[in-house]
Amino acid sequence: MTWFRRKDKNITDKGKKNIPSGLWIKCPTCSEIQYKPELDKNYSVCRHCGHHFRVSTKIYRDLLLDEGSFSELFKNIKPTDPLEFKAEKKYSDQLVTAQSKTKQNDAISCYNGKINNHDIILAIMNFSFIGGSMGSVVGELVSRAIESARDKKIPLILICASGGARMQESSLSLLQLAKTSSKLARFQESGGLFIPILTDPTTGGVTASYGMLGDIILAEPGALIGFAGPRVIKQTIGQDLPEGFQRAEFLKEKGFVDHIVSRQKMKDLLSRIIELLTK
Ligand SMILES: [Zn+2]
Repeated sequence: MTWFRRKDKNITDKGKKNIPSGLWIKCPTCSEIQYKPELDKNYSVCRHCGHHFRVSTKIYRDLLLDEGSFSELFKNIKPTDPLEFKAEKKYSDQLVTAQSKTKQNDAISCYNGKINNHDIILAIMNFSFIGGSMGSVVGELVSRAIESARDKKIPLILICASGGARMQESSLSLLQLAKTSSKLARFQESGGLFIPILTDPTTGGVTASYGMLGDIILAEPGALIGFAGPRVIKQTIGQDLPEGFQRAEFLKEKGFVDHIVSRQKMKDLLSRIIELLTK
């Protein structure tokens, strides 16, 4: 019997260079390695292939709203755990973890501000907060944002990013679909302009309610947009799904999305739409 023996000393990490973590990011589409500060300057869009990385609420806020023009709305509304839900983790613990990670109360933030001098209400969903799931607080804030836009007679822009309804709140989360949809219907009857922007990913209850109820529906390039996931659909219909299924470009081709807009052009496009439709 032969045994392999190590002749050399074990490799040690003595003298290893201390490279700060998180400075380099690999693009999931073209595999180019990106320098994070450079990527941030380009609104987290890959310079090589145009891949749109998921970004924080703050980046969208600063991208769209004129500097110094905005204030945050409904900051004191916080989620509760009325069902004392517990699966693998306790819902109350998940909330605490998500709140300390994102420094937000829940998966949405609302602002009153200006976009190229036009007054708007802007709501931004955050996928980093329990998958951007829509619970009672998200539904309530969307409803209040709609009412606020209606009272002030100004457009509402909503950046969507969601894995769907927040199942930890059971039927309370499902009620939000009806609540937000009916508020939007009244807003639109009164002549209000509503523009949702579907970012990666927008799925489940958000797609099934306000995500698809815009006067004009915009999407970011390559965003995953759908209701159920592709695996569930494939199993249900027993057929292979077409290429690019549930991506923004495919949905535009089929008429679910009106226009695909890159992050660099978003502010100008929105203010042009507002100029055209609110005069
Ligand atoms: Zn790329």
